[in-house]
Amino acid sequence: MAKLQGSIPFLMFNVVILGSGCAGNTAAIYTARANLKPLVVCGHEPGGQLSLTTVVENFPGFPEGIDGPELVDRMKRQAEHFGAEYRAGTVEQADLSKRPFRLKLEGEWIETRTLIIATGASARWLGLENEAKLIGKGVSSCATCDGFFFRDKRIMVVGGGDSAMEEAIFLTRFGRDVTIVHRRDQFRASKIMLDRARANPKISFLTNTVVADVYDTSQGFVTGVKLKNVVTGEVWDREVDGLFIAIGHIPNTKPFVGQLELDSEGYIVSKGGARTSVEGVFHAGDVQDRIYRQAITAAGAGCMAAIEAERFLEAEGH
Ligand code: NAP
Repeated sequence: MAKLQGSIPFLMFNVVILGSGCAGNTAAIYTARANLKPLVVCGHEPGGQLSLTTVVENFPGFPEGIDGPELVDRMKRQAEHFGAEYRAGTVEQADLSKRPFRLKLEGEWIETRTLIIATGASARWLGLENEAKLIGKGVSSCATCDGFFFRDKRIMVVGGGDSAMEEAIFLTRFGRDVTIVHRRDQFRASKIMLDRARANPKISFLTNTVVADVYDTSQGFVTGVKLKNVVTGEVWDREVDGLFIAIGHIPNTKPFVGQLELDSEGYIVSKGGARTSVEGVFHAGDVQDRIYRQAITAAGAGCMAAIEAERFLEAEGH
């Protein structure tokens, strides 16, 4: 649909969905089935966190499990089947000060009556070359997703916050032993979580230590790490089967800073249901949820956002 505004034609949509992970795809399925012809902007990590995992065994309906990339691709095809349009790229700028909202997408401005933000929160990685090559092959950012694959294995968790403690404690259900590696000797984790981890006989700590490299890309899976003590400078190798990086997440909300209410870490503040501080803008998935972060909860949130967008448009007479 094209519309003339001054002399510049803008493409106008009923619903634009930012993000193509579980939340965005589910919002797309629902809004497309409601005949709203949504546009899905895929973002810088098309498919979201699931595209970084291997087998997903906890998404209902797949008793044998399903590969993360395949699951997310099936969701996309389902949405396309009902008329959702997918476009590669990211939103560089947004103007949510009035309706219709304006978004700058790969140099082009588009307009939309409602906006569903499902841009997720990207896991923070260490930034090592071999770490990136072994994601999904022993390197993971999600214990709930991948812990099961490390039954009776040697596991390492990197981080000193609550996530690292929580993941390490969870992973003791599977692993033979779990080592927490933290770059300082002071922990950001709450006392209760730290005490719980310290009391767990399967967990040991390496403080003032960083992971300097991950082995073994030639074998195609994790076999060990190179460690460095940042105080003494000592460097040594250690055999591990799984490396869980729990050093925080970064919500993808940069274009909305100053336009939407965000919390101190940049997550969207929910105003109940899928509502944000701006009428007509809805949130779905990890961009607002820092607690559950699961494929199924993100999908549920995408459904909620879609239903709210649908009702909003209906109330406005569209
Ligand atoms: P966080 O509190 O920001 O902790 C991140 C940890 O990763 C810090 O210890 C930090 O080290 C370390 N780190 C960051 N960048 C690193 C790097 N490049 N290399 C090595 N280490 C690095 O993040 P989080 O643990 O994900 O928690 C986020 C929020 O969720 C917090 O508010 C937390 O309380 C909450 N949360 C709560 C629970 C719970 O209560 N059950 C569970 C999970 C999360 P430094 O300390 O040296 O900076």
